[in-house]
Amino acid sequence: MNELAKQITEWREEKGFYTPSSINGPDGDAMLGKLMLVVTEVAEAAEAVRHGDLDNFKEEIADAFIRLLDICGAMGIDIEEEIAQKMAVNKNRPQRHGKKTSL
Ligand SMILES: [Mg+2]
Repeated sequence: MNELAKQITEWREEKGFYTPSSINGPDGDAMLGKLMLVVTEVAEAAEAVRHGDLDNFKEEIADAFIRLLDICGAMGIDIEEEIAQKMAVNKNRPQRHGKKTSL
């Protein structure tokens, strides 16, 4: 995933788009915009579900990952390590994390 993040960031830079490399100061404002673009991709995936369009659903999920991995690449986040650390925490949480619903 880290190699893919690097490739996506390089591709994004080649295309002339900007992604901040920190969340401080003005970069924080820009990062809020980038995160909202991730949300738009998830919303597009939700819309694909509403239309029963599996091909478009897969495309929009890919878009969301591309945007997230670009942020990881731009910031130098080792997403493989971050996911491993978080899953180690998640594995020790109680069934349904103590919640009443299954989602
Ligand atoms: Mg999209």
